Amino acid sequence: MQYKFCPKCGGEFEEFFEHGYSRLRCKNCGFIFYDKSYPAVSALIVEGDKILLSRRGIEPFKGKWDVVGGFLEKGEHPETGLHREVKEETGVEVDVIKFFGFYMDTYREQSTLNIFYLVKIVNGEPKPNDDVAELKWFHKNELPKDIAFKNNQEALDDWLKSNERI
Ligand SMILES: [Zn+2]
Repeated sequence: MQYKFCPKCGGEFEEFFEHGYSRLRCKNCGFIFYDKSYPAVSALIVEGDKILLSRRGIEPFKGKWDVVGGFLEKGEHPETGLHREVKEETGVEVDVIKFFGFYMDTYREQSTLNIFYLVKIVNGEPKPNDDVAELKWFHKNELPKDIAFKNNQEALDDWLKSNERI
C-alpha cells in the first residue's frame, strides 16, 4: 500500500530504503511509516474427512468459498481472534487442535500474514452469520474449485496432503 501523507501531522512522505526495504518518512515531523503484512487468522474446522467452509457474502471474492476467519484486532492474540471470528461467522465454539501454518498473501493492496489453526467444534451447530452467505461441510475428495484467496487454497492443499484427521 502506498501512502502519501503522514498520519501524525499530515505532512508529505518521502521514500527511503533501510536494509533494502522501502520506508516512508514524513518531511515535516520525521515520523517513519514501516509498512508490513497485516495478521489474519483462519480456522480449518475439521471433522473426520470433512471440512467446514463458508461462502463469502461480500467482496472481494463474493460468492466464492472461504476458510472461516478474519483480521486480528490490534493487540489481539491469534487464538483469541480465532475464537472471536469463528463465533462471529458460524456461532459455534471450537477447540484448537494445533497450529497449522503461516501463509503469505495480499488482501486488496495490503500484504497479509495468514495464521492457520486446525480446530474442531465443541459446542453449537454452525449457522451463517456476519458476512457469510452459507456454510457447508465438504468431503476432502470433493472440495470446491472456486476458493477465495491464494492463502486458503495453499492451506487446503497442505491439509489434503497432511492426512490430518480429528
Ligand atoms: Zn509528520
